[in-house]
Parts: sequence; structure tokens; C-alpha cells
Amino acid sequence: MTFSCAIIPVFADQLSDRLASLAAGVPGRDLVVMAEVAEEVGYADHHQKKLAFLFSAMRHFAERLRAQGWRVRYTTLDDPANTGSLTGELARAAQAEAAGRVLVTEPGEYRVAAMIDRWPEHLGLPVERFADDRFVCSVADFARWAEGRKTLRMEYFYRDMRRRTGLLMAGDAPEGGRWNYDADNRKPAEADLFMPAPHRVEPDAITQDVLAMVEARCGDHFGRLRPFWFAVTHDQAEAALDQFIAAALPRFGDYQDAMLRGERFLYHSVLSAYLNAGLLDPLAVCRRAEAAYYDGHAPLNAVEGFIRQIIGWREFIRGVYWHHMPGYTALNHLGAARALPGLYWTGDTHMACLAEAIAQTRDEAYAHHIQRLMVTGNFALLAGLDPAAVHRWYLAVYVDAFEWVEAPNTLGMSLYADGGRFASKPYAAGGNYINKMSDYCRDCRYKVSKKSGPDACPFNYLYWDFLDRNAETLGANPRLGPVYRTWGRMADDKRQAARDSAARFLARLDAGERV
Ligand SMILES: Cc1cc2nc3c(=O)[nH]c(=O)nc-3n(C[C@H](O)[C@H](O)[C@H](O)COP(=O)(O)OP(=O)(O)OC[C@H]3O[C@@H](n4cnc5c(N)ncnc54)[C@H](O)[C@@H]3O)c2cc1C
Ligand code: SF4
Repeated sequence: MTFSCAIIPVFADQLSDRLASLAAGVPGRDLVVMAEVAEEVGYADHHQKKLAFLFSAMRHFAERLRAQGWRVRYTTLDDPANTGSLTGELARAAQAEAAGRVLVTEPGEYRVAAMIDRWPEHLGLPVERFADDRFVCSVADFARWAEGRKTLRMEYFYRDMRRRTGLLMAGDAPEGGRWNYDADNRKPAEADLFMPAPHRVEPDAITQDVLAMVEARCGDHFGRLRPFWFAVTHDQAEAALDQFIAAALPRFGDYQDAMLRGERFLYHSVLSAYLNAGLLDPLAVCRRAEAAYYDGHAPLNAVEGFIRQIIGWREFIRGVYWHHMPGYTALNHLGAARALPGLYWTGDTHMACLAEAIAQTRDEAYAHHIQRLMVTGNFALLAGLDPAAVHRWYLAVYVDAFEWVEAPNTLGMSLYADGGRFASKPYAAGGNYINKMSDYCRDCRYKVSKKSGPDACPFNYLYWDFLDRNAETLGANPRLGPVYRTWGRMADDKRQAARDSAARFLARLDAGERV
């Protein structure tokens, strides 16, 4: 039986040789279609480095596929014939090729899945869809796991993933006797640590072309484009993984939650963009980390912690996203409505921790997890910022940001906008937490030791004000019982001082004053 040519769209986060739709096609006969389109550029104010990373990685992947014998039709953003949409580019390709069908791997985002639903009608072609098997847990498996559970907890899911993959398993038991070594992790920052740096790549001719195009066409987007140093090929991403395993993994666990001025990466892997785009395979990355433990190169607390982030958190978050979409991105359990202040784009604030996290976000399109969760996220939670606006910000500013992973982290973990579908309580904290885990407070205009008044750390009074404001919604949460009891025992004048300080601060924030 002979088939007419199939067209195989490959999206920016599907840059993997073993993509299911590529495996179903035939090199030389079928046509891979890749396109840089205005529709995708414009749906968020994507950081310039993020756009450059994705376009360059796409162009390199197109070259890789051609070298493997594939025919690839690639439309650049500045091609005058570019229709500006993925559907438009597929329609052009289908017409030019007289294609008989479309083969597509399920996309990462609900929005794109809904677009694919319309393709049979729009393109007049049958569309065969393949599950994205680059994840350990399929969407269907997650739905089965989640069925009947009132709340979803990552820890139990993670144990299943350990059993399923055999990673760090000694027979049926976890290696070392415990599933989780977090108790040994999370040491505060030390300023004199030797800091490994992530692997930096010199832009080649393809990347230089992309940088010039992004500069010309998207120069008004957020963030600094240069210096550009991200890996954009599979080999370069492998080199970044090698460097992480050799230099940073052994202390990954110890300093996972630490923050230091001027140290933007600490012992983090800075691999999320490569994993999410498809340049690295998550399971292969975990196997490399596991081997480093069995070789004696890295301790169990570091390797278990790292593997948990990938087969635990990353897989779990994806499951949560698909389990709760559509509708998840519109949730606002706490009814937060404050507009996103301009400082999220400028970093112009006296608050040293926020200024640092936002400046590095602007420069690198990267901040590590604790900066995202406990600095920018914590502030957004305590100040009652509109979750939809915060979600758009996180989706725009990080090189690794795709909705399936960004939205549950922002709306669920950080803002509690989903009412605790997987977090047992909001990640709210006062200045003490930031002071313990960082050196930010040392040079801050505000005093972390002060609880209220113009010099006091804003996190301190915003924390109590947040709890007070949301007492009706959060007061019955058993994990918040002790803090509500502390608030209740506080002297009236102290409580009022916290409320007054918060009201003054938030009024200045709303007025666009420098806070
Ligand atoms: C508000 C908020 C928004 C976030 N948005 C994104 C996002 O858009 N894209 C994204 O990939 N991650 C996101 N995260 C999760 C996490 O912050 C990043 O994955 C991590 O900082 C990436 O840096 P790294 O590669 O150095 O990670 P490492 O600290 O080295 O961790 C190793 C890997 O584990 C995975 N991982 C760790 N934590 C998480 C998590 N909570 N959810 C999913 N995967 C995780 C990542 O693939 C990461 O590369 C967000 C977290 C928060 C709190
Ligand atoms: S004092 Fe408060 S605002 Fe300043 S750096 Fe510390 S936590 Fe941040």
C-alpha cells in the first residue's frame, strides 16, 4: 500500500529525534514543517533571549533533520510569505505538497491542542495525533493516578515514578532506605563557595542571524538579548549536562534553596530550557545523575534531590496542568486583583531581593526556583497581585517558560490561586526566610529585623496583612493553624501597625512610587 506524502509539524518544544510523529513518518517521503510565526511570538511578551534560543534551536534542529534525510520546509519569521500562524504555514505546505495527511505529536499547551482540533476542518486533511512519549507519565496515566484523590501530592506520585523507572531503587526499596533526602539539603548561602558556572556557548552563524532578526523585529520585547550563551543544539546541551554533572551536581542538594548576590546560578543545572525544548531527554539526564552517585562522584542527597525535580516535580506539574485544563489559568481562589506593578519589568525597587531577582531575569531569562517561588512569587502572593497578570509575566520572562510547566508552578505552587489542588498551604513567608537563605538583606534599604514602619522589611508586614486579609479563606487550613494562633495572640497595637504599614506600602505601590 502506498501513502501520499504526510506533513509533520514540529513545534519549538518538540526538537527531539525520537518524537513520536517523526517515528511514524518516512524520511525522504514525508515533509517536516517548521515555522517561526508572529502568532507564537506575540501571545506573550517573550524575553528576547527566549525567542532567540527557540528560533536558533529550531533552525539547528531543521539542519539536523535534513542531515538525517528528512525534507524540511522551514519558514523564518522575516520571510515575506510567512502567514503568521502555524495553521497558515501548514496549509501552505499541504497545498504545495498535495499532502494526504498530517502526523502530529500532542503539543505541550492546551491552546495549541485546541488549534489542532480544528485542523481537519481548516486543512481538509485527516490528522493523526500521537501522545508525547518523552515524558515518563502519560496524561492518561496521570488521570488514572489522580482519580478519586481529593488532593494531589507530589511525594506519592514521585515514589511511583521511582518504582516505574527503577531510578535509585535497590530492589523494591529506595536506595539508602529513604525516598527523600531533603532533610539533608537546603543549607543557607555561603558567600565564599566555589561557584560552578553553566556551560556557555559562543553563537555560531545561525545564531548570529537569529540574534540580528530578534533585535530587528522583537527589540521592544522584555530583556537583554546579548550576551547570548545558551546551547542551541543537542551536542551543546549534552556538553551543558556534562558540565553540570562534573562541577555542580555534588552540591546541588546542599545549596538548592540558597540565594547569593551576584551568583545567578549557584549549583543549579540550568538545564530546564534544554529539557523543555527537547534538546535533552529527561530520563537520560536522570540516568546520568544516577550514574554519578553509583560512581561515587556525587552524594545521594544531591542525586536524589535532582532526580526528584525531574521525574517528580516536572512530571507531576505536567500531569496537574492537563488534568485541570481548560480553566486552570483563570483560577483566582483568593480573589487577588492588584495590577502587576511596573517594577516586575524594570527591577526598580529598594527591595534588594526583588531587584536582584528581576535584574537577573532581565539579563539572563533565568532565575532559580527559590528566587521564582520565594522572592517574586512570594511578593506577588503577599501583595495580592492578579494571578492572570503574574502568570503572563512568568510565561514571558523565562527561557524555559511553556504554559504546561509555568502555569501550575505560578498559579498553584506560588499564588495558591487554585485553592490548594496540590499545595497544602500557600508558600507565604516574611523577610526572615529570605534573610536566612540569602545575603540580600545585608545591603537592603529596608531592615529585615523591623516588623512595621517605613524602614521595616515589606515582606514582614505584608505577610501578616496577607494572612489577616485572607483569614476567611485560609483560617481553617490546619497547616496555617499555628501562624493564625500567633497572629491572634499578638498585641492589638502590633497587629494594627502591620495593617497600617501594609496599607501605606500597597498604596505607594499602586501609585507607581518607587518602593
Ligand atoms: C512561579 C514559578 C514559575 C516557574 N516557571 C517555570 C517554567 O516556566 N518552566 C520551567 O521549566 N520551570 C518553571 N518553574 C520551576 C523551576 O523554577 C525551574 O524549572 C528551575 O528554576 C529551572 O532551573 P534549573 O534548570 O537550573 O533547575 P534545577 O534547580 O537545576 O532543577 C533541575 C530540573 O528539575 C526540573 N524542575 C525543578 N523544579 C521544578 C518545578 N517546580 N516544576 C517543574 N520542573 C521542575 C527542571 O526541569 C529543572 O531543569 C517555575 C517555578 C516557579 C515557582
Ligand atoms: S530586608 Fe526584606 S526587602 Fe530587603 S532584601 Fe531582605 S527580605 Fe528583601
